[in-house]
Amino acid sequence: MQYQSATKEALQSVYQELKKEYDAIVAKGLQLDLSRGKPCAEQLDLSMPMLRHSRVRAEDCQTESGFDCRNYGLGLGIPEMRRFWSELTDIPAEQIVVGGNSSLNLMYDSVARAMLYGVVGSPRPWCREEKVTFLCPSPGYDRHFAICESLGIEMIPVPMCEDGPDMDLVERLVKEDASIKGIWCVPKYSNPTGVTYSDEVVRRLVRMQTAAPDFRIYWDNAYMIHDLYEDESDTLLNIFPEAYAVGNEDRVMLFTSSSKITFPGSGVAIMAMSQRNLAQITPIWNAQTIGHDKLNQLRHLEFFTNKNDVYSLMKQHAAILRRRFSVVLDTLERDLADTGIATWTKPRGGYFVSLDVLPGCAKRVYELCQGAGVVLTKAGATFPYGKDPEDKNLRLAPSYPTVEDLTVAMQVLTVAVRLAAAEKLLEA
Ligand code: PMP
Repeated sequence: MQYQSATKEALQSVYQELKKEYDAIVAKGLQLDLSRGKPCAEQLDLSMPMLRHSRVRAEDCQTESGFDCRNYGLGLGIPEMRRFWSELTDIPAEQIVVGGNSSLNLMYDSVARAMLYGVVGSPRPWCREEKVTFLCPSPGYDRHFAICESLGIEMIPVPMCEDGPDMDLVERLVKEDASIKGIWCVPKYSNPTGVTYSDEVVRRLVRMQTAAPDFRIYWDNAYMIHDLYEDESDTLLNIFPEAYAVGNEDRVMLFTSSSKITFPGSGVAIMAMSQRNLAQITPIWNAQTIGHDKLNQLRHLEFFTNKNDVYSLMKQHAAILRRRFSVVLDTLERDLADTGIATWTKPRGGYFVSLDVLPGCAKRVYELCQGAGVVLTKAGATFPYGKDPEDKNLRLAPSYPTVEDLTVAMQVLTVAVRLAAAEKLLEA
């Protein structure tokens, strides 16, 4: 049934049926979680050989050049780890810094460092500016927004289109407003829309004129090799050659990690940047740490002898994830395709499906799901300050639950989407 063109009587009877269905679900006392994009246990098991083969003899704890990784030092990372990421990202190893276990931590630090010290080209530390603003393509990643909120950086949402952020708007805003110092980008299989930025968008981002002399693109390439389908993957233009070509290489700060390759929370995270940016941050980095966990870097290097090992592991992840994405997409199709009250993304990679329900209904859907024991990412979380202007977006994270739990959770969700729409239309 098309909800919006249905008669009041038809809606009323659908509402009654859905309400019965919903009450029956509530009575089951479910406890299911679709809220965070965490790998499931089956995915984590794929990297167990890394722990079993963990180096134990002293002579195994050395780098190629004989540095003893059990000790302090090599603050920018083991040279072969920098080379490993260089192969994967196609960025020269000298531009890569290996951090600890989390790219989000590197992002927080990068923005906090800019607040405290400024970046290359800053007239003053950002905290001395009257106002610092970031552009936030939305729906986007809630933890990026949390960094801004925590550091007192104002956020302007920018709509996400099929090929990346609305670049006409981005270009206009950064040209006019010198308080805009940064933009958050998840350029491949974006969280949560699954969008990969087009070549044109990448080029416009590095070329655009900015009123701020020290504007930065926070390029969070968390899902750089996280394809779901072998024959249908997205390709993202390498941003650095484009930025160098127009002399704006200092504008780009790239981040990624092995969190969703090996172990979230126990992976290896990196940043990549221009030599000038690296020269500016190195003394600050050295003040902050005498070095990150090199033994974990070695474990990863032993597990992956080359990038093909990584690609074959990612294929195994994809096989596990595909089953879960199918449950989500098939259920949405089965229950909502003919209703006219929801649209959703069909990503070719990453960890999320972005669901738009009838405007004004996302919070209600979240509440109804919660009432039935299904936890979703909070409605609004995909927008700065948790405020979805149309109250319509929900982020679905299929990876963590078992296929059986996911199947049940999705049934609950689509009942909630239809029930919330019926309520809304009946009250109109
Ligand atoms: N960036 C994005 C876009 C993510 O979705 C996530 C994980 N949900 C992260 C960063 C976190 O990465 P890390 O584990 O390296 O901190």
